[in-house]
Amino acid sequence: MGRTDNRAETYDGDADIIMLGVGTSGEDLSLQLLDAGLDVVGIEAALVGGTCPYYGCLPSKMMVRSANLLKETDRINGMSGQASASSDWNQVAERVRQLTGGWDDAGGVERFEKRGGRLIHGEGKLTGPRTVSVNGQSFKARKGIVIATGTKPVIPPISGLEQVSYWTTDDVIRLDSLPESIVFLGGGATSCELGQVLARFGVRVTIVEPGDRVLRLEEPEASEKVEKAFADDDITVHKGAKAREVELRGGSIVSKLDGGIELASERLVLATGRKTDLKNLGLESVGLDSSARFIEVDERMRAAEGIWAMGDVTGKAMLTHVALYQSAIIVADILGKEHPPAEYHAIPRVTFTDPEVGAVGFTEGAAREAGLDVVAVTKEIAATFRGILHGSNGGIIKLVADRKTGVLVGATTVGTRGGEILGLLTLAVHARIPITKLRSMIYAFPTFTGGIGEALGAYGRGVTTVLDPGYTGLKELDQLVETLED
Ligand SMILES: Cc1cc2nc3c(=O)[nH]c(=O)nc-3n(C[C@H](O)[C@H](O)[C@H](O)COP(=O)(O)OP(=O)(O)OC[C@H]3O[C@@H](n4cnc5c(N)ncnc54)[C@H](O)[C@@H]3O)c2cc1C
Repeated sequence: MGRTDNRAETYDGDADIIMLGVGTSGEDLSLQLLDAGLDVVGIEAALVGGTCPYYGCLPSKMMVRSANLLKETDRINGMSGQASASSDWNQVAERVRQLTGGWDDAGGVERFEKRGGRLIHGEGKLTGPRTVSVNGQSFKARKGIVIATGTKPVIPPISGLEQVSYWTTDDVIRLDSLPESIVFLGGGATSCELGQVLARFGVRVTIVEPGDRVLRLEEPEASEKVEKAFADDDITVHKGAKAREVELRGGSIVSKLDGGIELASERLVLATGRKTDLKNLGLESVGLDSSARFIEVDERMRAAEGIWAMGDVTGKAMLTHVALYQSAIIVADILGKEHPPAEYHAIPRVTFTDPEVGAVGFTEGAAREAGLDVVAVTKEIAATFRGILHGSNGGIIKLVADRKTGVLVGATTVGTRGGEILGLLTLAVHARIPITKLRSMIYAFPTFTGGIGEALGAYGRGVTTVLDPGYTGLKELDQLVETLED
């Protein structure tokens, strides 16, 4: 049936697909479907493109680059001579403004509409199977609806919060001029990245982490390296403490922590996680639970008949590459093309601190909790060939191998280019490449990636054991390989 035949009179429009939330993954999916000749109506409450380009990955990593350049100047001393740099935040703010077009999505709207899509700015709501309302208008989808409404920052229940003008990471991204001091509540990836950026531009930074270490979802060794770098950047970390109350005192925001500690700062950033907001999406109208934390999806990202969901709202991992991976699966499903079903055993994640923390799959602790019998080996980057030459600022390669299957189920790479080195390990975990295969390949010398070969005992063992006599994990790995070869 043609489009006109399908158009119900009670609707203001119809389309093959209605995209609810044209953010990071919503824009990607829409453009692919439009290119494939489908009719798409996109409904976006804020900015087409969403979190990643305007408030997330892209501007934050631009800031990280500027901050790390400043730090590199410090590292010239003792390596190449003397250098000093004076910082200017205006240049950072200007680059970010240019990147985001001044937080204006005109370019995104144009990309969408040039391909023949119809874009409506407003808060959309499902009203039944295949129908959505927005701004008092109603639309019907012939093929279905895709939901990618993302997440919002968690605002924790801290007494006095309403009296202080607190920030979220969005405000840090839009920062025009630097405060003298800032407190981040939460020691996760965004606090660590943005906190280190600001510290390198001279802001007095404090991070408050309720757990016993920053980046507590990563390997303890990773947290240790990052905390050591933070000490070098004069960042104060309060661990095992929660803010219970905040108040304005003498122009400062005072955060009162467990144990009677009080922290006065010019600014306070809530970086205590992100959560979905499913209440107002009309999910009940299609038989879905609006009180759930996330929208449940199957391995084709289907949530209900004619409904797909992707990105942060599915709770698989709040990362752009996972959202885009899911988008590709939905595109294939809608277009009737082949795509392997979704699997999440090899999700890479990178925290862009300096040293950078890359990780994929299980940490050693998580693997044991999942009931796996694992061997873990940890190699200091400073004891790898390239690490020595580079003058490593502290890092590790940690590999977690499953005794039963003889494959890596997790890996962590902390250090210079940690996130890049992770690529090889992501492939190994994803494709379940046997350790014996990883040991038999040739690694370029002397590279950071070669450090993986050194950690595996793949080459240069005569010399590497002299460079790193304390490296004990190798023996256990050898034993595992012997049993696999039997
Ligand atoms: C500071 C920061 C740094 C980050 N850094 C990284 C990084 O380095 N690497 C990485 O992989 N990830 C990073 N992330 C996470 C990444 O940005 C997200 O995982 C990704 O953007 C999620 O994409 P999404 O499509 O699910 O949601 P979003 O991009 O958030 O899009 C959701 C869209 O839906 C819209 N919407 C919501 N409700 C409605 C409604 N009712 N009707 C219409 N529209 C609606 C919203 O306005 C929004 O535009 C970072 C996040 C932050 C905050």
